Amino acid sequence: PCTDFDLAYFKAYSHLGVHEEMLKDRVRTESYRNAIRQHQDFIAGKVVLDVGCGTGVLSIFCALAGARRVYAVEASDIAVQAADIVNENNLSDKIIVLHGRVEDVDIDEQVDVIISEWMGYILLYESMLASVIFARDKWLKPGGLILPSHATLYMAPITNPERYHDSIDFWQDVYGIKMSSMKSLAKQCAFIEPSVETITGESVLTWPCVVMQVDCYTIKVEELQSITANFEFSSMLQAPLHGFGFWFDVEFNGPMGIEANSDATVVLSTAPEDSPTHWQQVFVHYFIVSFSILSQNVLLKLSVKHGLEKTYHCRLLIYEFFSESLCIWQNIYLFS
Ligand code: SAH
Repeated sequence: PCTDFDLAYFKAYSHLGVHEEMLKDRVRTESYRNAIRQHQDFIAGKVVLDVGCGTGVLSIFCALAGARRVYAVEASDIAVQAADIVNENNLSDKIIVLHGRVEDVDIDEQVDVIISEWMGYILLYESMLASVIFARDKWLKPGGLILPSHATLYMAPITNPERYHDSIDFWQDVYGIKMSSMKSLAKQCAFIEPSVETITGESVLTWPCVVMQVDCYTIKVEELQSITANFEFSSMLQAPLHGFGFWFDVEFNGPMGIEANSDATVVLSTAPEDSPTHWQQVFVHYFIVSFSILSQNVLLKLSVKHGLEKTYHCRLLIYEFFSESLCIWQNIYLFS
């Protein structure tokens, strides 16, 4: 059944601006187009399912790559425009736009290819991966292709002196007035939520750790319910630790797993050292010992123990969270 959360979520996706932002993200959109072109031999003459087609852009790329039929499924009202766009490109004989949740629509045949742009901030925030898994288990033929095929979530310790200076040191001297009694409140407020922002490559203190890896061909919904990862970092630089950065990448491999010639694999990366995307990175200040992300059903909790200078120990737990609440960040505890 459609929950209140679903309704609010799909309403957000009926707005033009969200789709405009995604389409203007060339790194994102061109990675998908490159991946489709790379798998063109597989896609030609086949049946494709696009989970969450939005404006229909990926469905159209697939039709242009020779797909015989494309089911373009979209729950939000942007499906109306998707159908117009398909018509305007004279592809209505190939692309069937279905307005509804992929969990609710009827498709009378098995498909050869599933394509979806399901990734959210920090990979899983508002992620629709569970809907892709649902579609795979219901309709994908054995040996079928899933794009993207693999995803990896990374985390690394971050130094962020400018941000700290702007939000905390600011209170030292305000128009010549001492306001340092505001600092502890400022620490609580400025860093209470993980934030989506740009993390520069220079502020990353160590090689990133892998938090989770997703193989879209095999992952089960249960595996998303509880993810625990332990880390130990040693900084390569002498710099204050301000928090942790998260980013992800996705790969577009064929059904046989990693491409024989892995140089050829298309990778869409949102790492600080790579070209910027609309996902940016997620920064979690280390005052936040534990935080949670309410996505459709994912709670992410990070606890950090400050070890010896330059060595940090962290434990990250991601587990399923059932709540009617629409409040996004909950259960935040601060270092004293
Ligand atoms: N494929 C488009 C849009 C990606 S955004 C593009 O690449 O530009 C993800 C889209 O999936 C949103 O439009 C959202 O409304 C839709 N969506 C999310 N969950 C869905 C579900 N369970 N069934 C159908 N559509 C869904």
